[in-house]
Amino acid sequence: MRPKLVVGNWKMNGSQVANANLLAGIMAGMNGSGVSCAVCVPAPYLAQAQAMLAGSLVAWGAQDVSARQAGAFTGEISADMLAEFACRYVICGHSERRAYHCESSELVAKKAVAVLNAGMTPIICVGETLAQHEAGEALPVVTAQLGAALALIDPALLTRILISYEPVWAIGTGKTATPAMAQAVHAQLRAQVAAKNAVAAEDMQILYGGSMKPDNARQLMAQPDIDGGLIGGAALKAEDFLGIIHAHV
Ligand code: PEP
Repeated sequence: MRPKLVVGNWKMNGSQVANANLLAGIMAGMNGSGVSCAVCVPAPYLAQAQAMLAGSLVAWGAQDVSARQAGAFTGEISADMLAEFACRYVICGHSERRAYHCESSELVAKKAVAVLNAGMTPIICVGETLAQHEAGEALPVVTAQLGAALALIDPALLTRILISYEPVWAIGTGKTATPAMAQAVHAQLRAQVAAKNAVAAEDMQILYGGSMKPDNARQLMAQPDIDGGLIGGAALKAEDFLGIIHAHV
């Protein structure tokens, strides 16, 4: 069985004082959970996360990265810069980046490659909008999104990526995909990876994201192809985040 992984996506939230309390609370409650966890913090707080979390059971990472290596790209942050803060994970293609920053699946794929080249693990997000969901297009949409990444990433490196299925209509809305619905998508994503690298597909942790909370996490993570969660709102309170971490079966 694949080990579970719970990753917090803090989005554009936090302050040095609030972060210190949240991280201390998470570290204090981690013992014995048997689940790996990480927090993806806003870039200005990476040094704080590194200083507080180094040597703990909690890994850290970033929420976005530039596809470019270096140079005149004002405001961008390169993968090498993130690696300097010992990030383990970098979220690529979160639906908020796709929607508010017009990120295409091709750009997301380039970002994932930049993350891999810098020695970190991309968490590639895919998910359908409400309109696409209602039109019954979830599977073709996520297949196309993942397909763009699989077209660019060396199949041998697929052992080093994670995928997160995040139906856009479930993010921050309190609505969540049913476990069966999410399982069907996860199984399809795994099969898609398997066509490129069967070993990577078998070992790959595919996370679910979209209003995962302590009270629905157990059922979702009990599905055979749901290997953990990418958590937004509930990652901002230690009690809720730990509730999800401890909810695994
Ligand atoms: C997310 O932003 O990745 C997310 C899943 O958010 P939430 O848990 O708040 O729905």
